[in-house]
Amino acid sequence: MNLADAPMEFDSLTGEFAMPADEAAFLRHRQPQTQRLLGFTLVFCTLFYVAFSVTDLAALGYGPAFLSLLGARMVVAVTAGTCAWLAYRSRLSVRAMRIAASVVEAVALGCFMFIAMLRPAEFHWHAMSLAIMLIVVYLYIPNGFVNALLLAFAATVGLLALALRLAHMTPADIVTMSMLLTLANAFGALAARRFNRASREEYRAQARLQHAAERDHLTGCYNRRYLVDHLMRPQAAPLRRKRSLTVVLCDIDNFKRINDTYGHADGDEVIRSFAKLLDSMTRKGTDSVVRYGGEEFLAILPDTGLEGGIRFAERLRTRFAASACPSADGSSQICTTASFGVASADLGDDGTGRTLDDLISAADKLMYEAKRGGRDCVRSMQLA
Ligand code: GH3
Ligand code: MG
Ligand code: MG
Repeated sequence: MNLADAPMEFDSLTGEFAMPADEAAFLRHRQPQTQRLLGFTLVFCTLFYVAFSVTDLAALGYGPAFLSLLGARMVVAVTAGTCAWLAYRSRLSVRAMRIAASVVEAVALGCFMFIAMLRPAEFHWHAMSLAIMLIVVYLYIPNGFVNALLLAFAATVGLLALALRLAHMTPADIVTMSMLLTLANAFGALAARRFNRASREEYRAQARLQHAAERDHLTGCYNRRYLVDHLMRPQAAPLRRKRSLTVVLCDIDNFKRINDTYGHADGDEVIRSFAKLLDSMTRKGTDSVVRYGGEEFLAILPDTGLEGGIRFAERLRTRFAASACPSADGSSQICTTASFGVASADLGDDGTGRTLDDLISAADKLMYEAKRGGRDCVRSMQLA
């Protein structure tokens, strides 16, 4: 559980998320669409790349030079075709997809240099073609901003170096060509940055809305809506494991008195500190913590039997009882305790949807038993 509202800041240079975890989550979320874009772009570019062998024939005539260029274009077609096939057929990881994108780009740009070498009289055209290819590299082939920038930069420098060595161009032509390619790079990079930022802004807005809908504002724990809409569904993750499941219902003792004595703001701080302690003791990505009511919390612990649940509740009870929350004016330390109901069941293959409901009701009754038993204690039960 993430107690803090994620700021999800952008990197000002690349338009990507500044935090690697945010960026990774965004990329994973987008991966199916990104793969389809990669597949489509590669097929489209490959067709053009091969179709342009007509220009080799027109420029060089049929002969060994034309055939070597045809071979080079075929290498690009096979590389791009294989990656397109992978992008359409299998679920690639973000990393694998980026490697595939970079390999195709490197092979295609390398082959382009080879074409330029064998057709040295046409560097004006080559510069124009590269300018178009750079836009594709920046905008259409999904890759990291830095990867795209490095590949585009290497291709630009490569073509300019070839032009200086092989082409009989006037200094004015060389300058114009350099300026044209610089412009293509600048526009490509700026457009990529804008696109990166726009797509991430949309994702961030969605993530924030989802966070607001699923989380409790005061503590950052899941709210009741999330419990009902997600955790209690029969196919929810805690129930899918089909092993033991334990729920712990926690209620802060004599909380009304804290509000009456110190005020609601300090009461809120006590609730927050309890939630923080509870969160720090649960397993990330496995357990779920729900703010069940005002000062009541529900911990859902998959793959945990009754013994584990009791140990968890006892540890939480003693740590909370030993802790103190400073009042807002700093004049006193607020100390209190909590009571716990622990209910556990072995999940079967059927009826799992009701089991969580049953466990929560049982834990609720047990928590009230703990209250009647004098508070600051744990009551537990194994459900049949
Ligand atoms: P017990 O030991 O029996 O649980 O006593 P209690 O006083 O804790 O029990 P009760 O459930 O009657 O009191 C809960 C109080 O929590 C009542 C309500 O005013 C207060 N409360 C509920 N939500 C919040 C909140 O978000 N902030 C604050 N400060 N107080 C809240
Ligand atoms: Mg209470
Ligand atoms: Mg209560």
